[in-house]
Amino acid sequence: MNVMELFETMEYGPAPEAANTVQTWLKEHERFGLFIENQWIEPASGQYMESTNPANGKALVQVASASSADVDAAVSAARKAFKTWSKTPDHVRARYMYALARQIQKHARFLSVLESLDNGKSIRETRDIDIPLVARHFYYHAGWAQLMKRELPGYEPVGVVGQIIPWNFPLLMLAWKIAPAIAMGNTVVLKPARYTPLTALKFAEIVQEAGLPAGVINIVTGEASQVGDALVKHPDVNKIAFTGSTEVGRSIRRSTAGSGKKLSLELGGKSPFIVFDDADLDSVVEGVVDAIWFNQGQVCCAGSRLLVQENVAERLLNKLRARMERLRVGDPLDKGIDIGAIVSPSQLQEIERLVAQGEAEGAEKWQPSWACPNEGSFFPPTLFTNVSPASSIAQVEIFGPVLVAMTFRTPAEAAQLANNTRYGLAASIWSDNINLALDTAPKIQAGSVWINCTNVFDASSGFGGYRESGYGREGGKEGLYEYVHPSWEASQVPEKSPRTRPQGVTENEEVANTSEEAEFALPAIDRTPKLFIGGKQVRPDSGYSLSVKGADGKPLGEVGEGNRKDIRNAVEAAHAASKWANATPHNRAQILYYIAENLAVREEEFARRIMQQTGRGRKEALQEVHTTLSRLFSYAAWTDKFEGVIHRPPMRGVTLAMHEPIGVIGVVAPDEYPLLGFISLVAPVIAMGNTVVAIPSPTAPLSATDCYQIFETSDLPAGVVNIVTGEREGLAKVLAEHEDVDALWYFGSARGAKMVEEGSASNMKRTWVNYGRQRDWLDPIQGEGEEFLRASVQVKNIWVPYGE
Ligand code: NDP
Repeated sequence: MNVMELFETMEYGPAPEAANTVQTWLKEHERFGLFIENQWIEPASGQYMESTNPANGKALVQVASASSADVDAAVSAARKAFKTWSKTPDHVRARYMYALARQIQKHARFLSVLESLDNGKSIRETRDIDIPLVARHFYYHAGWAQLMKRELPGYEPVGVVGQIIPWNFPLLMLAWKIAPAIAMGNTVVLKPARYTPLTALKFAEIVQEAGLPAGVINIVTGEASQVGDALVKHPDVNKIAFTGSTEVGRSIRRSTAGSGKKLSLELGGKSPFIVFDDADLDSVVEGVVDAIWFNQGQVCCAGSRLLVQENVAERLLNKLRARMERLRVGDPLDKGIDIGAIVSPSQLQEIERLVAQGEAEGAEKWQPSWACPNEGSFFPPTLFTNVSPASSIAQVEIFGPVLVAMTFRTPAEAAQLANNTRYGLAASIWSDNINLALDTAPKIQAGSVWINCTNVFDASSGFGGYRESGYGREGGKEGLYEYVHPSWEASQVPEKSPRTRPQGVTENEEVANTSEEAEFALPAIDRTPKLFIGGKQVRPDSGYSLSVKGADGKPLGEVGEGNRKDIRNAVEAAHAASKWANATPHNRAQILYYIAENLAVREEEFARRIMQQTGRGRKEALQEVHTTLSRLFSYAAWTDKFEGVIHRPPMRGVTLAMHEPIGVIGVVAPDEYPLLGFISLVAPVIAMGNTVVAIPSPTAPLSATDCYQIFETSDLPAGVVNIVTGEREGLAKVLAEHEDVDALWYFGSARGAKMVEEGSASNMKRTWVNYGRQRDWLDPIQGEGEEFLRASVQVKNIWVPYGE
């Protein structure tokens, strides 16, 4: 037998990882209680549930099944601990986090084996990927704890955070949630997934070893219907951080609507894996293995849609089938195994159901010739060809080792096919032409784009979705903002009536009539503003107008009464203007300066309008106009300065964290400060390349409608700003429920805020609302700055490895 033949025939021998240390630990415990205030507590119900090994279906150990009473106890422990932890100096928190990272490294092998036993993922992955990333996450965030005061001045922790994590990366998701939360001074109640609680419980022991103060981290195991639900609805929880399915994410959005809880959602995906014809196909094959067979395909950002350029498709698919034939499925603790067990029988059934559906819809299924183990939950790597882009297997997240392949001809078609999904979590692009790859990356709607690599993660590079893959980022500096809020918000008061004069102001100057007006009592020339859509002033669809009263209660004018159809037209116009995103930042800045210039020459007129609508004096009205001008200058300045960063993750390469516009943003302006409130919202949105559909204050809309002429004469492209006047809550509801609006900012009543958050759940649009609380728009901290800019962008991390 020659060497060549040996290579062909050589079988892998078994290379099992010993599990005795972990098994002994499990036996010693028999059953786990809840980890509350650094103590192990019996669940109030006395109920326990089993955690099983998916590789053989056998029970591993019993864990507590908590009820809402236990959640109450955990939340109150976290609240108590928050008082001290939130005041604990940065360096002290950093030391604790460093201690956690060290302990995790010391227990790395143990944690790897335990994770493989409980989840079914291969030891190769837990040992080389999951657990090292967990330690890295704690080290990285120890650094942010140390730097918090210096790097996030004016921000403070949000409070008690409820964290709900899935089963696919149990300890890694715990780290992604807990590390930034406690680094920023919050305390935590974490619910692990039903199927995979064990590494979280080992982590609780590590928390004890590291000597973390009691109540900073609490871990409550149990059913979603009990623990998950109670956490989400708990009145003393200030934020929910969730990773899991889009369906549950949507229901959490609805149940937290209007509560004022901060929310970050990392949801599902159907990520494209794009292969251009000049890519190195052998590397591509290995990339596909990592994209869809890593963790049995149970990965939210799995490259589950292979999009390959038509002229190399056959060649690539043949190579891929040959590679699939060589993949090894089996015992997760065997170090030579590529694919472990599916997490549970019910997840396996779901995969089988979707695969059968794919076949029934006419796609061609291919699987290797060998069989999976009979015992436990296993599924072979599977490839579908002849897939229609609209079919269920091309659209639905299968969450299993199933790849669907489709072809494209041109780069434009590739981008179109890649974006043909409601999700937007990640994408991989394979090409030896870096120009083509970097040109394609911004065209894909996804939070992470990997060039000639896939499924790479690092604590420094934020991770999170576009569209229905959720919002908020985990990792990177941007991830920290999910766990802090501006300090001034603590003293926020409920919104005042728009007509209320600020305290200490007594002056109430009358709008001066010229002597001529007084003498002849000239009848006014009717000037009812229309709506402003697509750069044109258009009549409202309803054909009706609404009367606007002045501060003195007398009619001041009329504005168009916009309706659902007008909003639809405005959204359409805003989409048609999407090229605005491609205008250079310099160009956008020039237009903002031009708007300021045109406003400045009419400052007296704008001040007069403010006085009429609000009853404020001339000095104050002029101050509002001047602040508006300064604000326009600020955002003109920021267009080319709020730019994103370059990360250096531990690899040869860089990650470009780009600030990309979100798309069409609805803006519902506040009542107070009719001009300043309106411009303070519209200016950052357009500065960052979004287009807007704005609803001005219904009580004081005329300052916004007076801006039509300013916009028309400032070179602002048609459709970038669209304005629809009318009944605020009704119009905001239409915007909230509109499937083609990407984000909605609402500054109105508390009830309106709830309605907006609820309505926006259908397409998971990003929302920013004030819960009816007042913001001082004149104040440079509350009224402008990075908070506004961050809400105007989404971060896309483009991973660019280099070197031969
Ligand atoms: P879920 O979204 O149901 O579960 C994720 C976490 O949320 C778990 O801790 C779960 O608890 C909890 N949970 C479930 N329902 C609620 C609720 N109503 N309120 C509060 N918490 C809740 O995912 P599944 O485990 O059911 O998986 C279903 C599908 O979701 C998968 O097939 C996959 O498509 C997708 N998924 C996506 C993930 C991602 O990373 N994006 C991760 C996991 C799943 P419990 O475990 O007790 O049910």
